[in-house]
Amino acid sequence: MQRSFARIDPKRRTILDHKKRQFAAPTWRDQEYKHRLNFYTIPPTAEITLEEFEEWAIARLKVLSEIEACSFRNRSAEETASYMKPILEKHLPLQSNSSRSTQLDAQRKKDHYSHFILRLAFSATEDLRHRFVRLETALFRLRWNEDDARERRDFVDSLDMGGEWEKVTEEEKKLLADELKAATPWGARKGEEEGWFKVDWEKVPDLVEHRKVLLKRGKAYVPMREQSSLLLAEFSRRLGDAMELTSRALPRIDEDDRLSPILSHLSTSFTAPETTYSDDSALDGFTTPTAASVDALSQHFPLCMQHLHRTLRQNSHLKHFGRLQYTLFLKGIGLNLEECLIFWRRSFKLITDEKFNKEYRYNVRHAYGDVGGDANRRGKGYTPYSCQKLTTEPLPGPGQTHGCPYRTFAPDNLISLLQQTGVDDRQTLNEVRDDVKRQRYHIACNRVFEHKHRNEIKKVKEDGTWNGAQLDTILHPNEYFKRSFLLGHLGEENGNALRDEMRG
Ligand code: SF4
Repeated sequence: MQRSFARIDPKRRTILDHKKRQFAAPTWRDQEYKHRLNFYTIPPTAEITLEEFEEWAIARLKVLSEIEACSFRNRSAEETASYMKPILEKHLPLQSNSSRSTQLDAQRKKDHYSHFILRLAFSATEDLRHRFVRLETALFRLRWNEDDARERRDFVDSLDMGGEWEKVTEEEKKLLADELKAATPWGARKGEEEGWFKVDWEKVPDLVEHRKVLLKRGKAYVPMREQSSLLLAEFSRRLGDAMELTSRALPRIDEDDRLSPILSHLSTSFTAPETTYSDDSALDGFTTPTAASVDALSQHFPLCMQHLHRTLRQNSHLKHFGRLQYTLFLKGIGLNLEECLIFWRRSFKLITDEKFNKEYRYNVRHAYGDVGGDANRRGKGYTPYSCQKLTTEPLPGPGQTHGCPYRTFAPDNLISLLQQTGVDDRQTLNEVRDDVKRQRYHIACNRVFEHKHRNEIKKVKEDGTWNGAQLDTILHPNEYFKRSFLLGHLGEENGNALRDEMRG
């Protein structure tokens, strides 16, 4: 069970002034980042702004959740690497020394700090700690595999392995040359033959079992190519231990009223990271939705909105929360207030104008910011709901239809709803069933999206018109709509301009 994030009794909470000193006197120093890879043994100590704190953490969270999505979808190591490449370049680029980029320090600093921020956010419960270690190790593996042999060797040489790994000296290598060669009958790859480590053989049971190492006097001689498994195991072990220590320091962090809300928000965003709606999700310049076009456009809606639309058409009515969810979504796709009022008025065809004006008109105007609301919302209203909100809010009651159907529907009903909307592929449906059983609602939704648009996705991938980051995991109903619409109108005149715009 996930532990509550109000970790200490609020009554016992000391009211602290963050301007006063709370922790031991810090010694500020900028870290030197000699290597692209990092074992994250030294916590950062230089100052960053609160905005950087949050932005960097969200960028890393996006990367980790995409890695997790790849494992949920059983992508192979190669598929994961090619899927993650543009996402990493976009959110957490990390170039090698040989690139001679002027951004190296800035990139490594962001990587370093974001790792430690998420460490704080995810050390509260065993489950979160475990997931964080697993995903960070996977991220480390991706980066390790990308590095060239020289950078890897320099990095490994820089690690303080506390005497657990001993580098095999040149003399010893010469002495054992035949045995080492015999232990690697496939032959060493160019540039790697000189790298050997010796460790206690118990540390590498897999390599011993598969006879991939030379065993001598209780030590296993591990060649460079097998060092990645050793290194990854060490990375996981150290990070796991460090997370335990961090969890003990958490109650003190809870007392910091600037950081704890951000950390708490980050940890709840682990499964489906929060995405904010951006105006890009409307179809400006391509089509202007009207009350009359919503029926036709609904083929591009995600299941949550399709379900609301179908219910509305069946009953000529929707309950309050469903109306609000749907109104905000329609606003997000670019339906203006006037058209939205026309849409609802026509849809509620069983009631009189008077009743509509009295009971429903105000709420629609309120959602658009035309009336009521505080000063911040005036003129803007509310933003469309994200998948994170829709998959975590309280479940709908009897007769209510809001929320995410992947979560709110019983599995059999969900499958039949999907079939009614044209998804009949047995394998996809089975995978969706499995996803929802494991509460991976947005993964199920993305799976359905990918199935429905498999031909278009194949095309844009093959002709290179969309880059990988444009096909990342969908986390917002309005993003689902826009992507579906654009894929459905590939090659149409203004579509090119819009795709260029999306590519940014
Ligand atoms: Fe809608 Fe998101 Fe659920 Fe998909 S995952 S149905 S877009 S709430």
